[in-house]
Amino acid sequence: MAIRVTVWGENVHERENKVVAGIYPNGMHSTIADALNRDPGVAASTVTLQDPEHGMTAEKLAQTDVLIWWGHAAHGDVADTVVERVCDAVWSGMGAIFLHSAHFAKPFKRLMGSPCNLTWREAGERERIWLTSRSHPIAAGLPDHFELENEEMYGEPFGVPDPMETVFVSWFQGGEVFRSGLTYKRGAGSVFYFRPGHETYPTYHNAHVQRVILNAVKWAHNPAPRLVDASAAPNVPVDKALEPIEERGPRLHHDGEEGFR
Ligand code: ZN
Repeated sequence: MAIRVTVWGENVHERENKVVAGIYPNGMHSTIADALNRDPGVAASTVTLQDPEHGMTAEKLAQTDVLIWWGHAAHGDVADTVVERVCDAVWSGMGAIFLHSAHFAKPFKRLMGSPCNLTWREAGERERIWLTSRSHPIAAGLPDHFELENEEMYGEPFGVPDPMETVFVSWFQGGEVFRSGLTYKRGAGSVFYFRPGHETYPTYHNAHVQRVILNAVKWAHNPAPRLVDASAAPNVPVDKALEPIEERGPRLHHDGEEGFR
């Protein structure tokens, strides 16, 4: 069965900025999904911020093996209930890929638990992306380095937790460097952050970039059934302990109660 990918697009600059609309006439999300759909092992669909519940209904998330998220100008418009639903799906086993300015997307910040800040400059600089983990599945089929002629600069320090593995680092013409491909595990879900993709440049038409995203989809896909309640924290009463124990000392809680959340 094909991996079901949902590409979430903010879809603001594609409609409001002529340069972006010229590069991505059907939206960045469609370009990303179309590239993925060339692989017979992937079935990608798109949703946008403007859809009801931003397209992130419980039903859609249940039918999503890997979620790809691109946002920039309207992070604050994403409803907190939707953020919580997306994070819960990740903790339950859904894969998630956050692209470029999604470093400040609400679900990414919630999953990272850190400021996710960085330095930046919009000057059309050359970006040279170096592979730092040759045998990593996300780097499969890629050269040791490749270049994007025009990109926005993102520079260290990048305010994220140490990743499981750094798959790429980027160098920019102005001298900055950036950890541009990072893997995480959050609950049962695999998470990948990939840096390139400023909307005024044709980055998502680049074959290497498309390859990275396809590889990341396959890496992040967790074929195991989704956990039913990834946030469950059940009380285990004394008489249900695996070994016989005797209750000692004062207590605050009753057997089997929900506890404080
Ligand atoms: Zn950008």
